[in-house]
Amino acid sequence: MPDAALAAGAAEAGTSAAGEAGSGVFRGTPVCGSVAIGPLVVVGPAAARKRKATGDPAAEADALRTAIAAALAALEEALAAEDDLAGEILEFQAALLEDDDLTGPAFTAIADGAPADRAWTVALAAEIDAYRADGDPVLSARGDDLADLSARVLSHLTGTADPAADVPRGAIVAAAEMTPSAFLALSAAGVAGIATTGGSPTSHVAILAKARGVPLVVGLNALPAASPGPAGAAILDAAAGTLHTAPDAAALAVARARSAEAATAAEAAAARATQPAVTRDGAEVKVMVNIDDPAILDTLDPAICDGVGLTRTEFLFQHGAPDEEAQLAFYTRLIAWADGRPVTIRTLDAGGDKPLPGITVDGEANPFLGVRGVRLSLARPELTRVQLRALARAAATSPVPLKVMVPMVTVPAELEAMRALLTAEVDALAAARIAHAAPILGTMVEVPAAALTAARFDAAFYSIGSNDLVQYATAAARDNAAVAPLADPANPAVLELIGRTVAAGKARGVEVSLCGDMASTPALAAALLATGLRVFSAAPAEVAAVKDAIRSAAAGPAA
Ligand code: PEP
Ligand code: MG
Repeated sequence: MPDAALAAGAAEAGTSAAGEAGSGVFRGTPVCGSVAIGPLVVVGPAAARKRKATGDPAAEADALRTAIAAALAALEEALAAEDDLAGEILEFQAALLEDDDLTGPAFTAIADGAPADRAWTVALAAEIDAYRADGDPVLSARGDDLADLSARVLSHLTGTADPAADVPRGAIVAAAEMTPSAFLALSAAGVAGIATTGGSPTSHVAILAKARGVPLVVGLNALPAASPGPAGAAILDAAAGTLHTAPDAAALAVARARSAEAATAAEAAAARATQPAVTRDGAEVKVMVNIDDPAILDTLDPAICDGVGLTRTEFLFQHGAPDEEAQLAFYTRLIAWADGRPVTIRTLDAGGDKPLPGITVDGEANPFLGVRGVRLSLARPELTRVQLRALARAAATSPVPLKVMVPMVTVPAELEAMRALLTAEVDALAAARIAHAAPILGTMVEVPAAALTAARFDAAFYSIGSNDLVQYATAAARDNAAVAPLADPANPAVLELIGRTVAAGKARGVEVSLCGDMASTPALAAALLATGLRVFSAAPAEVAAVKDAIRSAAAGPAA
């Protein structure tokens, strides 16, 4: 058993340090990908960079100006070569470099006699610390961007090398921190996988890794001491969240077999991905797709799915609230991509694990039980109206009714309040003779109160958000590793809540789908079918495997 082999390694070496020969198993949080094998390259904290200061403030200011301009030029060059998602991150960094509020303090320090490199590092460190101070994952991702930017300019000041320079193709890279630009350089260099002691599954690096299919583990319990030599292979099990350094021949053989098996299974499943998902006993199941990142539309074939079951619109708000035209452009593009298949777009679901600076409420004692999802949308109607207008305008381009769904609904009055806002915007568009269509309005079911009273909601469809439903049913926060074993989606209480929602949908004659991670987990497909569920919405990379799991399950008596 591969896990047993890895666990045996952990027992030998302990969980935090490599043994004498550099062998050990390091544990972290899986982000994406499966098993990767390759030579290990350990990237320690950046070596102190030496630069000889001129002692002349004017020359130091010139040196910093030149370094900033060079960093900007390099960013612009990288931008031209990158996809939408990476481009968005690089564009954000380029805008920061042009922001005098950010660079000003460094020039002030130079005028006061500081050398350019120290002035720059100290000025940026203050900003980076402020972003990272309260442990908030979104702000700390912003801090990572700034740290990346700081390193970029510093490397131009000191003339230091590219992060991928000494990393061979196919390597497993272990690092303390990973900046988005270092990630992009490493991914372009063809690394087999990455493990970091820092980072989080919601960081920019994690988003990029998922989009590019680079196996990634974050939050390793320790950094391996050093590479065990150029030929020393390591095993990154990105599904289990482990990095096995200097494994013995037996562990390597097991990992190679697993990796080959995973590649063959993925290839075979992908070949069947465009076929419908029909259970062994003939039940037709719809498998839709979740869209979390616009860049995926460039590479994803809509033929693998029966439509879009969830569009997380939070990504549009990462750098502030987008205007109506920007939202309209994305919604229209998504509808065109779906090519006649139904599209479901969720209204902004900010708060809880998805804080948005300047939009969500700061300092709540318990953000998961606070002003999040629809509660925030109703507290900020000016933002909601813009989104609803853009959705109604985009609906005019859809050959089938556009489905709009509302997150974190607890009582029917919240859905009705959103309907009132939507109706007012539809009426205003009609009065202004702007092309539009009224979307149909559904509710997410992710609060147990909504699951137990689903039939009372005047919803055109239900979409079960199992990630939140599990955390609220089991009272185990979805971002707290210490209670993760309790947050079990297979808990009978969770399945009961799903079953009741499916029954309410059936009684009302409306569709019930499930778009949380449960629908992306092949091992849970049979249990979900047993609740009567017949519409899944899965992460793009999991659609093929989920369809296969449905095909090998029996649905049981007609739902
Ligand atoms: C869910 O809670 O299952 C869901 C789909 O929403 P999110 O994960 O975005 O909170
Ligand atoms: Mg949710």
